[in-house]
Amino acid sequence: MIKNLDFEKQREAMVNEQLISRGITNKRVLAAFRKVPRDKFVPEEYINEAYADFPIPIGSGQTISQPFMVALMTELLELKAQDKVLEVGTGSGYQTAILAQLCAQVYTIDRVELLAHQAKKLLGELGYENIEVVSGDGSCGLEEHAPYNGIIVTCGAPSIPEPLKEQLAEGGNLVAPVGGNFSQVLTVVKKKATGFKVEENCSCIFVPLIGKYGWQKDA
Ligand code: SAM
Repeated sequence: MIKNLDFEKQREAMVNEQLISRGITNKRVLAAFRKVPRDKFVPEEYINEAYADFPIPIGSGQTISQPFMVALMTELLELKAQDKVLEVGTGSGYQTAILAQLCAQVYTIDRVELLAHQAKKLLGELGYENIEVVSGDGSCGLEEHAPYNGIIVTCGAPSIPEPLKEQLAEGGNLVAPVGGNFSQVLTVVKKKATGFKVEENCSCIFVPLIGKYGWQKDA
């Protein structure tokens, strides 16, 4: 198979045809998508689909999410340059790299040790110095670095895990797919001085959040 190596062109087309055309407007978010080489985050056998409009298998039964979903979730976080963010579900590390373009520090956790290890290696090779990759159950959050200005959960939860709400800083946004095993609603939880405000965005389909505050075992 002949590889199409014109990735910069493909990135620009992805930004225009999949993100801007569907309503992503945040300039910093769009700049991050123009910069991060998605082709480095997909397995070799899927390299020609790296910028395509769908999720791609990354091994261990997991996926790198569709570019639009990564962009929408990122935009909903409303990140500022000085922010500290927690990502639950490192996967390939692509979403992590996007976040790292937009804030001061990213902590990311995956329950699959192999994926966490591979992502850490790749993100190091790409020169990211504001990312810490951890292996473990992210449904419990990552208490030692809390509170976070933003928390993003990239796997489907039956409900918002309580520890994540606790570890969110006041003024921060938590973005997570919430619902059943096969489809969820993209949910934004805003932590205000007066309490939590919950907004529902769109329906989505993610692999399950498996852990103490998620689903109990592999379905
Ligand atoms: N953000 C990723 C990317 O850009 O490639 C995609 C993540 S994939 C859709 C969801 C990830 O959540 C999987 O890698 C899976 O192992 C992870 N996951 C599931 N349950 C978890 C848990 N309790 N803690 C941490 N990670 C978890």
